[in-house]
Amino acid sequence: MKTTTQVAVIGGGVVGCSVLYHLTKLGWSDVMLLERSELTSGSTWHAAGGFHTLNGDTNMAALQGYTIRLYKELEEITGMSCGLHHVGGITLADDRDRFDMLLAERAKHRFMGLETEIVGPEEIRKIAPITNTDGIIGALYDPLDGHLDPSGTTHAYAKAARMGGATIETHCMVHETNQRPDGTWDVVTNKGTIHAEHVVNAGGLWAREVGAMAGVYFPLHPMEHQYLVTDSIPQIEALIDAGGEHPHVMDPAGESYLRQEGRGLCIGFYEQTCRPWAVDGTSWDFGHELLPDDFDKITESIEFAYRRFPVLAEAGVKSVIHGPFTFAPDGNPLVGPVPGLRNYWSACGVMAGFSQGGGVGLTLAQWMIEGEPERDVFAMDVARFGDWISPGYTRPKVIENYQKRFSVSYPNEELPAARPARTTPMYDIFTDLGAVWGQQYGLEVPNYFAQGDEPGYETPSFRRSNAFDATGREVRAVRSGVGINEVHNFGKYRIAGPAARDWLDRIMAGRIPKPGRVSLTPMLSPKGKLIGDFTVSCLDETEFRLTASYGSQAFHMRWFLQNAQNGVTVENISDRQNGFQIAGPKATQVLAACTRDDLSGFRFLDLRRMTVGMTDCIVQRVSYTGDLGYEIYCDPMAQRQLWWTLWQAGQERGIVPFGMRAMMSLRLDKFFGSWMREFSPDYTAAETGLDRFISFSKNADFIGRAAAEAERASGPARRLVAFEVDAEDADVNAYEPVWLGGKVAGFCTSGGYSHYAGKSFAMGFLPTDRAADGLEVEIEILGQLCKARVISEPLFDADGARMRG
Ligand SMILES: Cc1cc2nc3c(=O)[nH]c(=O)nc-3n(C[C@H](O)[C@H](O)[C@H](O)COP(=O)(O)OP(=O)(O)OC[C@H]3O[C@@H](n4cnc5c(N)ncnc54)[C@H](O)[C@@H]3O)c2cc1C
Repeated sequence: MKTTTQVAVIGGGVVGCSVLYHLTKLGWSDVMLLERSELTSGSTWHAAGGFHTLNGDTNMAALQGYTIRLYKELEEITGMSCGLHHVGGITLADDRDRFDMLLAERAKHRFMGLETEIVGPEEIRKIAPITNTDGIIGALYDPLDGHLDPSGTTHAYAKAARMGGATIETHCMVHETNQRPDGTWDVVTNKGTIHAEHVVNAGGLWAREVGAMAGVYFPLHPMEHQYLVTDSIPQIEALIDAGGEHPHVMDPAGESYLRQEGRGLCIGFYEQTCRPWAVDGTSWDFGHELLPDDFDKITESIEFAYRRFPVLAEAGVKSVIHGPFTFAPDGNPLVGPVPGLRNYWSACGVMAGFSQGGGVGLTLAQWMIEGEPERDVFAMDVARFGDWISPGYTRPKVIENYQKRFSVSYPNEELPAARPARTTPMYDIFTDLGAVWGQQYGLEVPNYFAQGDEPGYETPSFRRSNAFDATGREVRAVRSGVGINEVHNFGKYRIAGPAARDWLDRIMAGRIPKPGRVSLTPMLSPKGKLIGDFTVSCLDETEFRLTASYGSQAFHMRWFLQNAQNGVTVENISDRQNGFQIAGPKATQVLAACTRDDLSGFRFLDLRRMTVGMTDCIVQRVSYTGDLGYEIYCDPMAQRQLWWTLWQAGQERGIVPFGMRAMMSLRLDKFFGSWMREFSPDYTAAETGLDRFISFSKNADFIGRAAAEAERASGPARRLVAFEVDAEDADVNAYEPVWLGGKVAGFCTSGGYSHYAGKSFAMGFLPTDRAADGLEVEIEILGQLCKARVISEPLFDADGARMRG
């Protein structure tokens, strides 16, 4: 056995083999896979082998599309069969909301180049003749859907990897992974120790145990899952004899997926009565075995399936496959560099290895070899969960995710499991004020405050929800008086030390402010992609604060630590600094009533240390509402005291608490982009207009400078613009296609309703040469083409007089 390697991939399931193949495909041949038994010895061997592109996250859907197209390439390279059956698939909708979801998905597919189609009951009966379409409104047809042979496909990945120079060591059990001081790894196995520059955890069912060898908790959990294979069915035999093959049918109402298997059918269920498996850890003794059949937990699902597919009622069951596979709390994989560890990579939590395995392998190989993936992969980044996550949180979230696998995912939905997990000192005060809570990165965040008859629960919907009026009331209160909310859902970092300014100048593309000032800056990857959108506050020459997205803490800290420098300390103080934002024309009056400081010279983007009431605070004159406003930061221990001070002073000025729904409407008025909507690693600073914050004149070789300069010279091919939309009862959410002259010319990044201007509004990308003020376009919202036009003047305070005044 080799004893040194550039990469040791632990785990020979479909995911590990895909990672190994992609490493060789992208140019690394000194790579090795270690499998404790034979290849496919985890969940891979008993998978149903189905694949499909449908995924609520657009970039995940694109990676699923990549995976599916890859199989032909694998067959060609290796001469092996993956057992491909590209039979197509339909996803049924039996109510308005499900159908809305399919319409929204179809719309996204237009600019992704996926040839899906909305079909009605008659076409459904033609495509999938065994379906009882009673009560069905329509379906989404995807010609790419199909199934394959899980074992053959995994071995094809393995052969392709070997052809690229990789080594595969089976019956090689990894017992320990020990890091050397230089960041490389000793991988201790039953066959000896391997010295590896990088380690990849592709341990599947044992990923938790493999992670623990390096001291890492991976937030995933195995669930039991069951599918049945029937005896021959006459209708299927007739179809085969006529030269056909039955397509896949996903029936979300019945929580089932169905396809042809031999001369019968195979049907699997995501039942509500599901069960987590191996709660205290996966035994090393578990191998090529199945769990005992359990019809009790799927009785209701089977009865439903008999009504939807009556032929099943007559068919005998030939075999039952009941096995475990892993989920992360949100059902997406855990991929990428593990925060806090050098040269340790994750490729686990992949619950749909045959839809996603290729994309996971490609992404990880790009990240390892080229330094960053080609697209935004935050939806599957292992850093999307913070170090607060625990098995006690993961388990109920995974159960919820399994149960909701086939449920409608609404853009405004707040999932209830494991809530509340993390709260600030304001939780009970805000609850008493009517807070209707949402959740970000485990943190409870008020979406709005229900007053009087306003609903205490926001109905999930693709259209304007029942929180519309409450949101409008809060927006108007801010714009006409003063509003208050917490600044708890900002990621906050303290940068200190003699080299702090130099470091910031290298990490951030923008100008770093002087003491007492605040500036805005993009953070770029080496390829010039946006990896952060920061506010920088200078307390003094050796101490700075950064604020950014709360949900990106682990993502940003990973980047900061990867770029660490002597003479600088970087601390994540997101939950150690809290406070409030007050915004609106009366905000200065409220603050003035709480402090002895003279606010007359307190300019826009100034920062001061100030005593507010009896609390020492850092106050910044800036607000994401785009209004006259202040962010007031304090020690969380003093937060309730600060609250009562501001709240009492606000009473005679009509102060109103406002939530995230209002905040999102307010920021749209000013065309302020939002992280992971307008600003993400999919886009560059020039495309989004954030290049206006890049300091090309500063004497620093900031990360991404060369790429940003090149783009500055050539100009971006697409540009972020704002649209006024003639919408009816549904506003833009994200990724709706923008039509121009009968063709899809762009897509939306986000949108909503401007309660201030009384208009539906969106932001999105258009080709630069078309992105002119007044351009008439159409935006497809839930299957309907809505007229829209490009606007260049913000809906509120266009000249910034109020914000700066
Ligand atoms: C009943 C059922 C039906 C399914 N149907 C589908 C489907 O239709 N479509 C689909 O896409 N997905 C399906 N899945 C899910 C699919 O099986 C998984 O997504 C996929 O197998 C995950 O692959 P993996 O490589 O991540 O993990 P695994 O297959 O679990 O592989 C992990 C490997 O790592 C090895 N390993 C672990 N620890 C060590 C160690 N210390 N040293 C050496 N080796 C180690 C294990 O032996 C194992 O071979 C189904 C799952 C089940 C249970």
